[in-house]
Amino acid sequence: MAAIGDMFYAWAADADVLKKGECGGAITALQQYALKSGMVDAVLAVRKGADLYDAVPTVITDPAEIPQTAGSLHCGTLLLSKLVKDYLDSNKTARLGVTVKGCDTMGLIELAKRNAVDMDRLLLLGVNCGGSVSPILARKMIAEKFEVDPDSVHKEEIDKGQFIIEYEGGHKGIKIDDLEDEGYGRRSNCRRCLYKVPRQADLACGNWGVIGEKAGNATFVEVCSEKGAKLLDAAVKAGALKTDAANPKGIEIRGKVEGAMLGLGNKWRKKNFEALASDLWGTIGRETGRCIKCYSCIENCPVCFPVAEELKGNSRMVTSGEVPPNPMFHLRRFAHISDSCINCGQCEELCPMDIPLALFSHAVRTEGDSAFEPKLGKAPYSN
Ligand code: FAD
Ligand code: SF4
Ligand code: SF4
Ligand code: SF4
Repeated sequence: MAAIGDMFYAWAADADVLKKGECGGAITALQQYALKSGMVDAVLAVRKGADLYDAVPTVITDPAEIPQTAGSLHCGTLLLSKLVKDYLDSNKTARLGVTVKGCDTMGLIELAKRNAVDMDRLLLLGVNCGGSVSPILARKMIAEKFEVDPDSVHKEEIDKGQFIIEYEGGHKGIKIDDLEDEGYGRRSNCRRCLYKVPRQADLACGNWGVIGEKAGNATFVEVCSEKGAKLLDAAVKAGALKTDAANPKGIEIRGKVEGAMLGLGNKWRKKNFEALASDLWGTIGRETGRCIKCYSCIENCPVCFPVAEELKGNSRMVTSGEVPPNPMFHLRRFAHISDSCINCGQCEELCPMDIPLALFSHAVRTEGDSAFEPKLGKAPYSN
């Protein structure tokens, strides 16, 4: 019987899923089993749309369709928490299996704290996350730095500190550090992110720590909840999933890689926050002075959207129709988000005026989190 804290190598028993999966297809096999066995009524996962820069969230109720969602899309800059809330709201008793990154999980926890989602109705299969790349920047980076036609690329991945592409005629890798020094690479919020192994989910799955003959063909799974343990045991018993105990050397390597990634995240926090602090009000004033008040930052933030109407409305100092808005429009939002910003980057990603909003909100929250309780994601909700 699996228990919280146990670690396995896992892979799909089905040959097709094994082949289609990113690292042995364990997540696809688990989602398929959860749906087939009735543990969930639907699965929310991500599949490739028009090309590999187009990550499309999709709700599936037919287990046979789950393999369409196998594989990792690193140029998908999605946040799934709002979609989960919409699904649960419109399917009142349904239970949903979701593949989540750390930021997706944290977004759901913030919604759960506000009684906006019921975590008991969710089965969260977490993926470790080294970061994601904006689709537009990915295309530009591949054309300019790799000197490869982005449309000829059929596979991309971030591995061993490199962004790697496979394309018609070859493959190339460039160090992420070098790319990021030149303004390419992962989104700026991802560089500062510390949710590398999503232990708030039911299972945390990734390729770090899979060594030896299983490297590339199995996923490292850490059991993070009783629900996760139950799913794993049942899927193995039903013959959907195969597992081995994780190699002790692999466990050690995984710990070291996670530590190195956390160190890198802290390095970027220091760099970004110190640069901001040197002219805090000047930078915020200049950048938000371009705001056209489209409300995208409010509607796409997992913490703001439940109170979107209040934040969009008039106040003593904010009047509708005023563009750029009175600075209080932004201060009100920063105040609202101050103890809850999960640094998912959606506000910044989707701002039509390219205002670095996540940097501001994340800086405010990190300052607060260093001093006050409860810490983000810890209480009153805990997994
Ligand atoms: P599969 O069976 O292939 O299933 C993959 C699942 O991920 C599917 O459910 C699919 O819909 C979902 N998915 C694909 N793209 C996204 C997305 N953008 N957002 C949410 N869900 C998505 N592992 C590490 O150990 N280190 C890393 O640095 C790392 N970075 C990652 C970054 C991203 C953006 C993603 C999506 C995954 C990352 N992983 C990382 C996890 C790893 O790539 C595999 O997903 C994991 O090992 C499971 O492999 P699998 O064969 O079992 O998954
Ligand atoms: Fe991954 Fe963190 Fe970026 Fe989310 S914010 S995509 S968890 S690196
Ligand atoms: Fe202003 Fe950008 Fe927010 Fe739109 S998304 S309201 S332009 S800050
Ligand atoms: Fe995400 Fe921006 Fe909201 Fe923070 S303020 S949680 S980065 S959308």
